[in-house]
Amino acid sequence: MCGIIGYIGNKKAEPILINGLLRLEYRGYDSAGISTIEKNGLKTIKNKGRVSELEKVSGINDLTGTIGIGHTRWATHGKPSSTNSHPHMDNSKKFAVVHNGIIENYADLKDFLKSQNYTFLSETDTEVIPNLIHYYYQTSKNTGSKKLLEAVSNTIKMLKGSYALEILCSDFPDNMIVVRKDSPLVIGKGLNENYISSDIPAILSFTKDFYLLNDNELAFISRDSIEFYDSNLNKIEKIPQNITWNAGAAEKNGYPDFMLKEINEQPMAIRETIGSRITSNSKSIIPDLDGLNKSYLSSINKISIVACGTAMHAGLAGKTLFETLCEIPVEVEAASEFRYRNPLINEKTLCIFISQSGETADTIAALKLAKSKGSKTLAISNVIGSSISREADFTIYTHAGPEIAVASTKAYTSQIVLLAIIAINFAEKLNLNKEKLEELKKDILLLPSQLEEILGNIQNIKNFAQKIYKEKDIFFIGRGIDYTVALEGSLKLKEISYIHSEAYPSGELKHGPIALIENDVTVISILTNRLLVEKSISNIQEVVTRGAKTFIVTNQELNHKFDEVIQIPKTNTLISPVLSIVPLQLLSYYISKEKGLDVDKPRNLAKSVTVE
Ligand code: GLU
Repeated sequence: MCGIIGYIGNKKAEPILINGLLRLEYRGYDSAGISTIEKNGLKTIKNKGRVSELEKVSGINDLTGTIGIGHTRWATHGKPSSTNSHPHMDNSKKFAVVHNGIIENYADLKDFLKSQNYTFLSETDTEVIPNLIHYYYQTSKNTGSKKLLEAVSNTIKMLKGSYALEILCSDFPDNMIVVRKDSPLVIGKGLNENYISSDIPAILSFTKDFYLLNDNELAFISRDSIEFYDSNLNKIEKIPQNITWNAGAAEKNGYPDFMLKEINEQPMAIRETIGSRITSNSKSIIPDLDGLNKSYLSSINKISIVACGTAMHAGLAGKTLFETLCEIPVEVEAASEFRYRNPLINEKTLCIFISQSGETADTIAALKLAKSKGSKTLAISNVIGSSISREADFTIYTHAGPEIAVASTKAYTSQIVLLAIIAINFAEKLNLNKEKLEELKKDILLLPSQLEEILGNIQNIKNFAQKIYKEKDIFFIGRGIDYTVALEGSLKLKEISYIHSEAYPSGELKHGPIALIENDVTVISILTNRLLVEKSISNIQEVVTRGAKTFIVTNQELNHKFDEVIQIPKTNTLISPVLSIVPLQLLSYYISKEKGLDVDKPRNLAKSVTVE
């Protein structure tokens, strides 16, 4: 995830690009860079660190070109460094490219290009793109703009993964080509000038007329015209859309808050996290885990998952996954407890640490403790180069993109998907549960579209939030993996609505908490395990008998009448939290909104807990 910006017009491009990058910095700030076309050709200035650092690089103000591209990076392949910064160029320095996304088959493409004598400066996946364009450009029989368009079109046909690209070519000083697939990019139409950006807000002060590109549509942009093409270079017509958002809404891409934006980004976050790691009918490919081989995995007798808050709830789902698929016992523990209790771990324990930011103080301390006891350590983080990734023996990343709202949503679901992928990889290495793995892979690949289905149908959740937002206590119940979702649903509600809530395993109700159920208390149940339906329904009936209002999230057919039943798509129980949590995220969100609270910045909480 990163921000890209572009300008072509009659003004000096550099300040416009810098201004746009500053607005896009929320999307990543590992490095920043721009390329412009000057009188004597392409000029690129890039730097590790934030846009404010780039602004200080000497010579940047001397750029006078009126066409340029810019990038602020959220590294996915290759550490944050000046060399890995975008724009990237081809060997002949004819093309400059900025890229948002992930090229999943970059290693194969790199091998091919190396066989054609291309060399590479960076560790990024992106650098294959300008070189591939060059490869096709110099072999093209076409002339003029067709030659450039053909080279770009041939290149994108070779790319697997996600990309939003801006491409400059020194042979075409008055044009820019952009194309996208599964990564955002918009074109803002001005008068004798055009703007390109990852999101509308960054350029909303310049224009209100926007063209949106579908996957693999190309735009050939000049100062006073834009030509659109499909992936086979047939010309297509597009009508600009007039955006009427105000500036505040625009910063969040039209959403009123980051949290709602991030809830809605979950299909994309899951798609990116899956990437090319798993496909159905073939073994998972995860180079990050190659060091955890069959002989090591056969030698361990325990996995310890250690994390805080929402990440620990993802870890609880991970426990069921590893125990079911890999048949290894798993303990899950809060890092703040683990670090102070002399845990029984040794070289036969694999310790997994989960932290979205990778900077959670307790998790880092727990990781150091595990290393001192001889355990191997695997970090799961959303931030490349974060502290836990530097400390751990192995690291694997979710690709959820920056999460800004304090209450975690897309990081949680991405963590569960990644844990499922890791469990599959381990089970494959251990030759266990072959059939189960195949079924699970298919179900994982369906998750993004199933999430879209849930997110497209939220009116009943909104209505229920309006009914219950004044309540003082709410209960969440579930069995098995549904109980872990109850815990996370309850935490979300506390965090952003300040309503007291408790999560209980459904069967435990009778052992105490049912004493608190009286007329009109709300009980929220999660019910996704076919084998436990009957038992769970009995528990729900017990609270209904005592006057409770019920909100049920389920993928089962229920023959009983309850106050609100949110039906979600069927999936493997092992990964059901990825779907069943979404109605609960939305319910908490709308309750918080009804109460007029600041959903993105709840009182007393910080996004990344860097103190113990
Ligand atoms: N995959 C590219 C990189 O790591 C682009 C990442 C992004 O979208 O920021 O450089």
